Amino acid sequence: GPILTITDLTRSYGRGERARAALRGVSLTVAAGEWVAVVGPSGCGKSTLLHLVGGLDTPDVGSVRIGGEEISALTPTKRALLRRRRVGFVFQSYNLVPHLDVSGNVELGLRVAGVGRRAARARAAEVLDDFGLADLARALPATLSGGQQQRVAIARAVAGRPDLVLADEPTGALDTAASRRVVELLRAEHGRGQTLVMVTHDYAVAAEADRVVFLRDGRIVDERRPGGRRAAT
Ligand code: ADP
Ligand code: ADP
Repeated sequence: GPILTITDLTRSYGRGERARAALRGVSLTVAAGEWVAVVGPSGCGKSTLLHLVGGLDTPDVGSVRIGGEEISALTPTKRALLRRRRVGFVFQSYNLVPHLDVSGNVELGLRVAGVGRRAARARAAEVLDDFGLADLARALPATLSGGQQQRVAIARAVAGRPDLVLADEPTGALDTAASRRVVELLRAEHGRGQTLVMVTHDYAVAAEADRVVFLRDGRIVDERRPGGRRAAT
């Protein structure tokens, strides 16, 4: 079945006359291995959607199922556990731990997902090698370029092979060349079967995905498959 099932998600902020719906009944199903991009103008609800899917916020109405588990039905503790084990996060601002080196950052991500120390070290080395980042394993984040930091952040997000990777404007802080390399890594992960849901302002980046979902005023208003890459579906 699908990895992610979002049903009728509704979320408002504020109360009474000031209440404003950030999401108004969003439903979306993401198949295993699919790469979905969510695009839309600022304020249309993209971050709200990602936070609900990532279990960082709870909806007023509707449900999110990841790998068959209904996340809003879980206690906050169980939700945090599910998030650590099943979801990888990539942020616009990389969010690497500054006092840990590159390998330490990837290992920490695995450790909080429940992987043992030795296995985490071995897996970190493997994923950094795959990503062409082995030479940077001992470097601290502050010594890296933005593009390098984001590649490390993606390595951290995918290292534990989560059910789902959520990326919030992953190229938003990068120049064109760095952005292209980040997109190449995402494409490679997609090629390995990683399911990806990405929010982006950049239509060129969105066009890499299997499916682009257009959000406006808290609603899905359109869906497209760029480039006819999946002609048979
Ligand atoms: P996007 O990520 O597409 O820019 P958001 O999901 O951040 O959109 O925001 C959707 C709407 O909800 C906007 O009108 C925004 O101002 C509002 N909003 C988002 N977060 C909050 C919050 N914590 N409190 C009040 N309003 C919020
Ligand atoms: P806890 O330790 O209680 O689980 P954290 O704040 O450490 O909570 O966050 C847990 C996970 O949620 C981490 O993987 C983190 O990367 C992710 N996360 C935190 N803030 C955001 C956010 N604004 N958007 C998406 N993911 C987030």
